[in-house]
Amino acid sequence: MIEHLVNYVYIVSAVLFILALKWMNKPESARRSVLAGEIGMLLAIVGTLLKHEVVSYQWIFVAFFLGSAVGIPIAYLMPMTAVPQRTAFSHAFGALAAALVGTAEYYQRRPHGFEMAAIVIETLLGFLTFTGSLMAMGKLQEVLPQRPIVYKNQNLINFALFGIAAALGIWIAVVPENTWIFPIFVGLSLLFGVLLIIPIGGADMPTVIALLNSYAGLSACAMGFALNNKLLVIAGALDGSSGFILSVIMCKAMNRSFTNVLFGAFGQLQVKPGHVEQRSVRSATPEEAAGLLEAAGSVIIIPGYGLAVAQAQHKIRELYDGLSKRGVDVKFAIHPVAGRMPGHMNVLLAEADIPYDRLWEMDAINSEFPQCDVALVVGANDVTNPAARHDKSSPIYGMPILDVDKARTVMVIKRSMNPGFAGIENELYYLDKTLMLFGDAKFFVTEIIKELPALVRA
Ligand code: NAP
Repeated sequence: MIEHLVNYVYIVSAVLFILALKWMNKPESARRSVLAGEIGMLLAIVGTLLKHEVVSYQWIFVAFFLGSAVGIPIAYLMPMTAVPQRTAFSHAFGALAAALVGTAEYYQRRPHGFEMAAIVIETLLGFLTFTGSLMAMGKLQEVLPQRPIVYKNQNLINFALFGIAAALGIWIAVVPENTWIFPIFVGLSLLFGVLLIIPIGGADMPTVIALLNSYAGLSACAMGFALNNKLLVIAGALDGSSGFILSVIMCKAMNRSFTNVLFGAFGQLQVKPGHVEQRSVRSATPEEAAGLLEAAGSVIIIPGYGLAVAQAQHKIRELYDGLSKRGVDVKFAIHPVAGRMPGHMNVLLAEADIPYDRLWEMDAINSEFPQCDVALVVGANDVTNPAARHDKSSPIYGMPILDVDKARTVMVIKRSMNPGFAGIENELYYLDKTLMLFGDAKFFVTEIIKELPALVRA
């Protein structure tokens, strides 16, 4: 009876997980998506507790309180800009949990055949994802060097190490009684996670984190087979495939090949040589910027990483309100990799309640730039760099960009002439039509708002 009930609970939970992924596709349904995922997870936990005869609830409570004591403060205290490393941190522990369950299963049961093979895959992926994710987190948090650490025959050594770990895994699967092999197998998996990440530069870490997420999902999927839990198989497979798809999308948006990210030792911050001559740029005051915006018929705002750093989203909302009230058509152009994580800009703008129908994806808005009076770039850099279209020597050559340079006037809010993430100069700043608005994004937008007479009265 309970068995049947739990099966139905699992089906509902699996459907909720699938809906959560689907709803995550659009900002309008993203909140619903999170709720669906949470309810799905709650049902999965309750179902599993009902299904199995739980020996000791007190250990479950200890784990629950310990996990919450760490997780809740992290969720509240970590700034938005640190979300990529926070994600790596949670993957590390998700993967470790799967790997430890696999280890316990191995030592307690030592099953034969398919189940043992599943345990081997679960522990291999779990342990390598654990150390790999911690390395990724360390690089993003800059507690470890961001630059790729490379040495001779690195890929060969890594492949050989993985080959030995996999061979030991097969040996364990065939002869599970050889318990002395297991710790060596675990050690090699942990070491492989470290060696896999060190040649990858900090710049590629967000993509790698999406990939590690995928590995953690596959590990959980294998755990589902080992424990004969169908919901875990489904959830793990969803996690594994969505993480993989996300990393492919990120590679495409940055015009990087997958193998290049994993084996290319790219991602070093590069400063283009030979650009020593000082070119001049035109700068403008908040008053001049406000005048131009007020007189414009259409304005496209291009948010980027600097908007997140400055936490200027609420001020941008005020600017949007002020201009809209004055009859200016204001749209937001969203580049798929603006900021430091997928959907970064959508989340920021949603936080400030900017209407979703004002947010335009890159492909939809690019044809509008030639008719746009003012393109206002707020803390974005690489995603607007025209070099990506024509300069074959540029590290971002081929990356799809927002065609900001085609607007009639371009205004760029940033603090200095410093480069962005890719570490290269942006030729947009030197165009005759471009005005640089130097300052912190929140500060500068506040100053512009002050200059808009309608808002001063309000
Ligand atoms: P970006 O190229 O990194 O440029 C951000 C700009 O913001 C900087 O040039 C900086 O200039 C400015 N800035 C920083 N703090 C500011 C502040 N408080 N006020 C005003 N401006 C500020 O950012 P992006 O155009 O958003 O491009 C994203 C980059 O990240 C791309 O290269 C992309 O490939 C990469 N990336 C993205 C993802 C993702 O998933 N979104 C993942 C991996 C890599 P100043 O220092 O002069 O102020």
